[in-house]
Amino acid sequence: MLTNDELAKWDRENLFHPSTHLGQFARGDAPQRIVQGAEGVHIIDRDGNRLLDGFAGLYCVNVGYGRWEIAEAIARQARELAYYHSYAGHGSEASITLAKMVMDRAPKGMARVYFGLGGSDANETNIKLVWYYNNILGRLQKKKIISRWRGYHGSGLMTGSLTGLDLFHRKFDLPLAQVLHTEAPYPFRRPDPGMTEADFVAHCAERLESLIAAEGADTIAAFIGEPVLGTGGIVPPPAGYWPAIQAVLDRHDILLIADEVVTGFGRLGSMFGSDHYGIRPDLITCAKGLTSAYAPLSGSIVGQRMWDVLARGTDENGVFGHGWTYSAHPIGAAAGIANLKLIDDLGLVGNAGTVGAYLNDQMRAALGDHPHVGEIRGEGMLCAVELVRDRDARQFFDASEGIGARTVAAMLKRGVIARAMPQGDIIGLAPPLCLSRAEADTIVAAARDAVADILG
Ligand code: PMP
Repeated sequence: MLTNDELAKWDRENLFHPSTHLGQFARGDAPQRIVQGAEGVHIIDRDGNRLLDGFAGLYCVNVGYGRWEIAEAIARQARELAYYHSYAGHGSEASITLAKMVMDRAPKGMARVYFGLGGSDANETNIKLVWYYNNILGRLQKKKIISRWRGYHGSGLMTGSLTGLDLFHRKFDLPLAQVLHTEAPYPFRRPDPGMTEADFVAHCAERLESLIAAEGADTIAAFIGEPVLGTGGIVPPPAGYWPAIQAVLDRHDILLIADEVVTGFGRLGSMFGSDHYGIRPDLITCAKGLTSAYAPLSGSIVGQRMWDVLARGTDENGVFGHGWTYSAHPIGAAAGIANLKLIDDLGLVGNAGTVGAYLNDQMRAALGDHPHVGEIRGEGMLCAVELVRDRDARQFFDASEGIGARTVAAMLKRGVIARAMPQGDIIGLAPPLCLSRAEADTIVAAARDAVADILG
């Protein structure tokens, strides 16, 4: 077996890590952790540290680690049928069963699910479906996509463009020209602190309306948004936001894509965020929680009004010319079936609601009055603590101070993994949905002590 030092050296010399400072990592000046195992809500690294994973990997290991039911389903599938493609009407028992299970759980009005591998490719598929749809309808100019600043929709060419975070555009020649961004529904950072929540919702709807007017509604195909802004800061929408946005989109015949990669399959305490907020999407993107990341799998869930047009389109144009080699991969599907069963059997959607509310309440009790805590917000098993220089003046820290990253590092010293969200000083928490109250207490204590370490 390799020693830890040998492995760390091979890592620095061979592996190209995503979302990493490449030069610093290669020089050994950036954090490095080699993960060895995991159970429940904990990961164990090669140095023997046992860490409470308060971000469920990348908000994806929803059922927690070490679930033998999923491991055995994967092994069984690999022995019986590791792979066959799903082109030209081929399928497997696993992919067909999972499709039925997803559609049984999907919000009303959805018709089919297309399986991919991850959230980014599912969003790429969704944009192609939108374009295909408008081409079939002869609306050749109706192609632009509106996303929100601070939205996160992936790292591909199109999806990286939809993502509204500067880091994902910088030096990549993004966003692409077909993508526009509008106001983020982020009440704490609303342009004028004098605005009420209702004023701010009206402002977001008005910004969308005026962007559509400026571009021409006949050029706008779709709007994409996460039910709760995720990577952009973990921000639940202000009350009335989704109905107000939906009304604008309906008025201009613009499709709505609900990106439920984080919120799908229970994280908000509801099976889907669309149900949670009464959103009526034409397309839903899902990934992470579909398999709890035991195997890569994503879904593009297509609404009935789009499905009817897509199906007609292939009558006129022949085969639907889109697909991945690994679409509906049997091993991913087997993992998905076992995962969705576990979510039901363990009541994890309900647990996300109750223990998630407990986590948020306890965090407010511990840190709500701290002078450098601007806001504590969350929904279901999502919680964010936003750190500010001056809470009354809503003054933020300078990014160069790295307050968020330092606070998260201080939590790690206490054995708890949180995520420093990429824009702003925001401690992000998205634990596995099986979190217990005692584990929530551990997270809260680590956050309270870490904030005291860094900010007094
Ligand atoms: N959409 C959302 C809302 C996400 O949070 C993510 C990933 N964090 C993606 C899409 C992209 O998913 P993936 O990284 O699996 O491509």
